[in-house]
Amino acid sequence: MKHIIILGDGMADKPVERLGGKTPLQYARTPFMDLLARKGRTGRLMTVPEGFPPGSEVANTAIMGYDLNRVYEGRGPLEAASIGYEMADDDLALRCNIITLEDGRIVTHNGGNLQTDDADVLIHYLNEHLANERVCFITGIQYRHLLIVKGGNKHIICSPPHDHPGEQWQPLLVKAGNDPDKNGKRLSPQQTADLLNDLIIRSQQLLAEHPFNQERKAKGLRQANSIWPWSGGYRPSMQTLMELYPQINTGSVISAVDLIRGIGHYAGLDIVKVEGATGLSDTNYEGKAQAAIEALKTQDFVFLHVEASDEAGHDGDLQLKIRTIEDLDSRIVKPIYEEVSQWDEPVCMAVLPDHLTPVEMRIHVGEPVPFLIWHRNIVADEVEQYDEISCVSGSYGLLKLQEFMQELMKNA
Ligand SMILES: [Zn+2]
Repeated sequence: MKHIIILGDGMADKPVERLGGKTPLQYARTPFMDLLARKGRTGRLMTVPEGFPPGSEVANTAIMGYDLNRVYEGRGPLEAASIGYEMADDDLALRCNIITLEDGRIVTHNGGNLQTDDADVLIHYLNEHLANERVCFITGIQYRHLLIVKGGNKHIICSPPHDHPGEQWQPLLVKAGNDPDKNGKRLSPQQTADLLNDLIIRSQQLLAEHPFNQERKAKGLRQANSIWPWSGGYRPSMQTLMELYPQINTGSVISAVDLIRGIGHYAGLDIVKVEGATGLSDTNYEGKAQAAIEALKTQDFVFLHVEASDEAGHDGDLQLKIRTIEDLDSRIVKPIYEEVSQWDEPVCMAVLPDHLTPVEMRIHVGEPVPFLIWHRNIVADEVEQYDEISCVSGSYGLLKLQEFMQELMKNA
């Protein structure tokens, strides 16, 4: 049996008063996810292990069946893999957002919806002024870029900018942690923190003067006026999914998001790039669905990730979040189900989010998420709808971390 996981990033939520106490998943019109829940089995999954932040990289790695305590190195190394940067042993790779500051506060983590072409100009400009034999910036996607520090120490405390909207940035600067490795070849945590904070402050002076931001300022638009490095790590060592699960021989990951592609890369999956896949609500849903169908024709595993709901949650945009959920249903789940349910070889479909991004909180929350698993021979449970509340009664009950992948692979 072939398997596809369809992941709606941050899709789960909490009851919203404006929706009469329903969650966006309950409120949205999702006939195909409901159909699969009715014909399949459901449950809830704890996607974030104890002691870890509820980040997408953590939750998606756990969903793919990995023990975070063994493989977790943060977002930086995952995104480096996605970009095609081969990490050296002494590299520290950090995710580097370009964010918007106003009046000393973080306004958004996304630099006013910065686009990749514009960001690339800013990254080149930063390299011209700040790069040296120890430090360099690498362009990623939109506001999400990479900062490499040769000999940098990962035992530092950084603040994910999307968790601190509206807060003053200065108290959120990088702090030193404890280094249990005491590797004399690397900078100390304090030296690394000092170096990064110096880069942050110099980037603010440089970016404020750049014509791109001058123009935005004149138009009253949000500026992309500070780097914000976080989630740094060393080169990870992960077994591939083929080594972990004999059911998987070949597979693909489809995502607009660097870190999901990076997890897929280390998991041994092919990275399928889809034209017009943006990570936002204007993404090429049809193209992603078609790419998944094409991959499943020749491979036996696909991880299809759609970021749009998470961004709507971070923006606190309730109507948009509902629309992204309905789009996932009608433009991803529907075409894939209608296609693969006709095939001779059975395909097992799973749908789930990685974490909650509640529209009224605008941050990630690591509570259990609802999931469904369907294939044509599965024995259905009692649950008739796919949402946070209905799936509490699902026959899988409450699973933890790698148990989801283990259960999915039992449908062989
Ligand atoms: Zn996520």
